[in-house]
Amino acid sequence: MLDLYRLSAAQLAAWLIEHGFAPVHAARLMRYLYRDGVADAAEMTDLPPRLRATIQRDTHLSPLKLMRQTVSADGLTRKFLLGLHDGETIETVLMRYEGRWTACLSSQAGCPLGCVFCATGQAGFRRNLTTGEIVAQAVFVNRTLSKQTRVDTRGQRRESLRNIVMMGMGEPLLNYDAVVAAMDVVCDRAGLAIGGKQITLSTVGVVPGIRRLADERQPCSLAVSLHAANQTDRARLVPAARIWPLDELLDACRYYTTQLGRRILFEWTLIAGQNDSVDHARELASLLQDIPAQVNVIPLNLTSGFDGEPGSHAAREQFSATLHEYGLPVSIRQRRGLDITAGCGQLANA
Ligand code: SAH
Ligand code: SF4
Repeated sequence: MLDLYRLSAAQLAAWLIEHGFAPVHAARLMRYLYRDGVADAAEMTDLPPRLRATIQRDTHLSPLKLMRQTVSADGLTRKFLLGLHDGETIETVLMRYEGRWTACLSSQAGCPLGCVFCATGQAGFRRNLTTGEIVAQAVFVNRTLSKQTRVDTRGQRRESLRNIVMMGMGEPLLNYDAVVAAMDVVCDRAGLAIGGKQITLSTVGVVPGIRRLADERQPCSLAVSLHAANQTDRARLVPAARIWPLDELLDACRYYTTQLGRRILFEWTLIAGQNDSVDHARELASLLQDIPAQVNVIPLNLTSGFDGEPGSHAAREQFSATLHEYGLPVSIRQRRGLDITAGCGQLANA
């Protein structure tokens, strides 16, 4: 069975020609798949009956099965447990910020990199997701939005999916080809039409992947999970630092920013007593002094396999203020969905 969600508009047109249909149907099919979120070919009434039958026979349009949906008490965060065809499960999160929705997508079932504070890492690796499974997560959440949001007078949906963060389960740059192909599909103007810059890919620091993103001039924004500003501390929190040491990672980051003229968002999960002092902030500022950077401080979320503490509000403020003093732009990530364990690093194949 072909997974239609893995095809770009051009590939969809080629598939139509191959099966004896006019390529003009590609645009309509894209609308059905992405804008309307139609999951049953029988509902694609504007397509010729023979094409509908071919889609029904040769493809599958629901690679993900909803197993559980949880909504946070404030209604702003929803978490979906989704089943894959082989029995694996993943989690996808939808978050609302001022009328705009951001989807947090998974790139792998599990993760092999074992960052000590991350529930996904604590649970281990199952497998890479396919392009279709990554795209289908965006389609799935967009469909749940279409069902519930009102339409304004110009026929525009008032609330729609605007941003995607590749920050769910898994390390996207260990599944490079599938992730990049999925980003192509969700950016397609005939489909979900997400802007390239509206996608943020977060990596733990897979050096070859960062260089490849730069060489290929991939349009997404890049976030790098740093958490420590020296190799010893970092290797303790992020075992992947033993494969890609801090100096090599920073070289790759410099290469990326010079090639593309963009800055990088450096993520820093703040753990009380481990990386949250004024000295830690100074060390970070000095490490990033020659890189166009912004720091995103993430208060630690609790997971069962790690006994660190998030620390106080005051410590967070002081950490950020110190970075500011050194001229480094900094933001503190809003805590979201903690009551449904949908916060950063809390996703696991429950
Ligand atoms: N594998 C990628 C993307 C997924 S994790 C990466 O590591 O970057 C997304 C972000 O959540 C990363 O910055 C990660 O370090 C952070 N994170 C993981 N566990 C966390 C936790 N328990 N509390 C807060 N942030 C966490
Ligand atoms: Fe994997 Fe990212 Fe979790 Fe580390 S933080 S274990 S790289 S998902």
